Amino acid sequence: RAPHKRLGVAIVGLGRLTLNQILPAFSQSQLARPVALVSGRPEKARAVAAQYGIDPAAVYHYDEMARMAENREIDAVYIVTPNGRHRDHALAAAQAGKHVLCEKPMANTSAEAREMIAACADAGVKLMIAYRCQYELLNLETARLAQSGELGAPRIIHATNTQVHGAGDQWRIRAALSGGGALPDIGLYCLNGVRTMLGEDPIEVYAQIVNPVGDERYAEVEETVSFTLRFPSGAIANCVTSYGAHECKNMEIRLEKGSLELENAFAYQGQRLYVAQLRDGREQMSEIRLAPKNQFTLEIDHFADCVLNSRTPHTPGEEGLQDHILMEAIYRSAREGVPVKI
Ligand code: NDP
Repeated sequence: RAPHKRLGVAIVGLGRLTLNQILPAFSQSQLARPVALVSGRPEKARAVAAQYGIDPAAVYHYDEMARMAENREIDAVYIVTPNGRHRDHALAAAQAGKHVLCEKPMANTSAEAREMIAACADAGVKLMIAYRCQYELLNLETARLAQSGELGAPRIIHATNTQVHGAGDQWRIRAALSGGGALPDIGLYCLNGVRTMLGEDPIEVYAQIVNPVGDERYAEVEETVSFTLRFPSGAIANCVTSYGAHECKNMEIRLEKGSLELENAFAYQGQRLYVAQLRDGREQMSEIRLAPKNQFTLEIDHFADCVLNSRTPHTPGEEGLQDHILMEAIYRSAREGVPVKI
């Protein structure tokens, strides 16, 4: 392979995330480029292909993903369809011999996540889950500081991801396509975020679910989840996610000798990191500033680097599986009203 070759990616699903974030992020990538599209709407796909200089012959329907095996321009796929479709699309891509980058949540269940890991391993292709915050620079700096010992040990984390969900019958409120409500969609950022900040996995979860009475949007999936995670180090995380509360995407870590506040931790942009530190008995406040970079581009470039240079992704399928195991424990705790050991 020529050293300058960029990874050729087929994007699967032309919804909001693909059109508004992912395709624009590719234009800033040095290592990857979109070379094919997979969509249920051929006319729209052809228009998007023309806009991004993609060969119109490289537009596929979901049923035709096996044909991608014949297209040597396609090295990998980026799956951006509803959660309940990820497993089938990942299996189809692996069978066609293509590496897989898959949006979060990885699937609907841990069983599906395991099938995806096995299929990619059998096919000898890489599997990465698109946990964009793990590639965002101020999130990385927060995790580094939390684990460095400079502020003592982390004791308490608060993570909030809330937004007000519009009306309408979309896949996010249909359990078969979403696997759940606010938890897998946006609460996952709290869950994965606190695991990343602490660099360890919880040993116990305790959760409560609240749904507005009589609201048909929440007949199949949940609106609000509050969950507590207890970690082996003794740290405790309080997380809350909701489709029904004014937007907040912040994370706060209280350590023995200071605190870290990451504003807009889970947003596409606008992260701000404030550090409070005890020095000689006095509290000093500072803000850490870094030149912002598009986190989708950083994530795509990491995936491309892993494929092109035979490296293991920082967020492999096992990372997605672990979150599914934890989300299943969160649902069980809420259902049974008791803490659940992992
Ligand atoms: P949209 O509803 O905007 O788009 C989903 C697309 O999937 C559709 O446009 C359609 O593409 C395709 N699709 C295939 N099968 C179906 C189906 N049965 N019902 C509906 N659509 C279908 O969703 P998003 O773009 O917001 O989300 C897509 C994925 O990305 C999800 O897994 C979500 O969790 C994840 N996501 C991640 C974010 C992040 O920050 N990392 C943010 C937002 C979403 P087509 O018309 O081309 O067939």
